[in-house]
Amino acid sequence: MSKLSIRGVSKVFAGGTTAVDNVSLDVADGELVCLLGPSGSGKSTLLRMVGGFEQPTSGTIAIDGQDVTRLPPEQRPTGMVFQSHALWSHMNVFANLAFGLKLRRRPASEIRDRVEAVLELVGLKGYGSRMTNELSGGQQQRVAVARSLILEPKILLLDEPFASLDQHLRERLREEVRDIQLRLKITTLFVTHGQDEALSMADRIVVMRNGGTEQADRPDVIYRDPQTPFVAGFIGTMN
Ligand code: ADP
Ligand code: MG
Repeated sequence: MSKLSIRGVSKVFAGGTTAVDNVSLDVADGELVCLLGPSGSGKSTLLRMVGGFEQPTSGTIAIDGQDVTRLPPEQRPTGMVFQSHALWSHMNVFANLAFGLKLRRRPASEIRDRVEAVLELVGLKGYGSRMTNELSGGQQQRVAVARSLILEPKILLLDEPFASLDQHLRERLREEVRDIQLRLKITTLFVTHGQDEALSMADRIVVMRNGGTEQADRPDVIYRDPQTPFVAGFIGTMN
């Protein structure tokens, strides 16, 4: 059984835009799948439906065989990192991370331990008392990654998490996230419009266009035999 099973999912927005068009996708336990495609191809909408931030017009989404299609985000075993980190700037790092645990009335000692554990995971040990608006862009996104992991989700969802950072930092954070993902063996969907990003970090790439999936394969297979202009064009510029 796959960890995440997306079956015939579509999203038509009010106004008539079909953002996602009959997508089916299975993700194995511990697999990192990159959703790759140009702007407007439906990547974010698909990811947001897995996280519960959008409702599909049709189709079903199951996690560990359990239908979650109609569950709100807070009842899903998913953690999401948004494109802009959306941290609370008036709260320190500890408070940002502890929020979800406090809401669930976890004991203070458990909250302390969990916060410490995720801070260590993202390389920010000892940063709990810092205000988030005093941190660099990269550090803020590390906090966002830590926050997405604090409730120990079964599935990690990332929507172009490093798009606003410079190339060097983006490459570094990509490697850090891949390391964390492999260490936790956490099933992950990573949205990007960067061909290099997908080719360098994914177990499998799903190329999207116009709301549908065009090619789904391992990076090395896609690199050798790109069947989409979006990837073929990029590889052309490399050679
Ligand atoms: P991507 O993340 O690949 O750039 P999106 O999923 O954001 O693509 O968008 C897919 C399509 O759906 C685009 O045409 C976009 O304009 C449209 N869209 C996205 N969100 C909404 C919304 N809330 N209301 C109406 N149309 C939307
Ligand atoms: Mg998007």
